[in-house]
Amino acid sequence: MNAKFFKIAVQRVMLTALLAVSLFFTACQSPKDQNPYGLDMVSTAEEYLAAVATDSSLLLIDLEEHIPGVVMDIRYAGTDNFTGTKIYSAPKAYLRKEAADSLLKIQKELNRDGLGIKVYDAYRPYSATLYFYEVYPDTTFVAAPWKGSIHNRGCAIDLTIVNTKTGEELVMPTPFDEFSEAASHNYIPSDSIALANREKLLTIMERYGFEKYSHEWWHYNFHKREGMGLLNISFEELEKLKKK
Ligand SMILES: [Zn+2]
Repeated sequence: MNAKFFKIAVQRVMLTALLAVSLFFTACQSPKDQNPYGLDMVSTAEEYLAAVATDSSLLLIDLEEHIPGVVMDIRYAGTDNFTGTKIYSAPKAYLRKEAADSLLKIQKELNRDGLGIKVYDAYRPYSATLYFYEVYPDTTFVAAPWKGSIHNRGCAIDLTIVNTKTGEELVMPTPFDEFSEAASHNYIPSDSIALANREKLLTIMERYGFEKYSHEWWHYNFHKREGMGLLNISFEELEKLKKK
């Protein structure tokens, strides 16, 4: 064996060893790694289906299918988000049944004025909440993983308003996920149009049962959350369930 082939052979052995080690650690990920705070949560498709069978209000609704003309800009399905990495496997947005129905009413009302909803994020698997806190450990802007996020309950949405003709977003005090004072509902922007647009979103969301989160103009929680537990079901699993 000459030196060149020996070097290649050694490299191959090292790569195989590295792969084996990484597979070993992936296989070692216990349910505890997925739920390090021991929270009560639905983590399998079977558990989710069983819960929905006893209470249909727990059903997660695909917003793209439920709301005609809704604009999807699911930031965590790409790299244009505060983590800089792709978190979701698919650009999907789900909410529990009643929240999704309310959002449909909001869309219809906005449509009358040539406006519509753009969704940045809705249901978020708990695993993403764990990761977000690792990247940005500030519970003003990122949910505390020891409690879980209302996004993990399928009851929160991040959204803005767009002009349906041009597709352009209405100007708001900050871009989505700008973690600053200016994102707060208490902030008075110098741009009066941005202020009016933020108020327009607030007024319509509150009329249909959503509550604001004071630190982020884009985040709203649906008022009915009782019994809506934490979920850690991936988007692939939810897609598979729809085909069943
Ligand atoms: Zn949010």
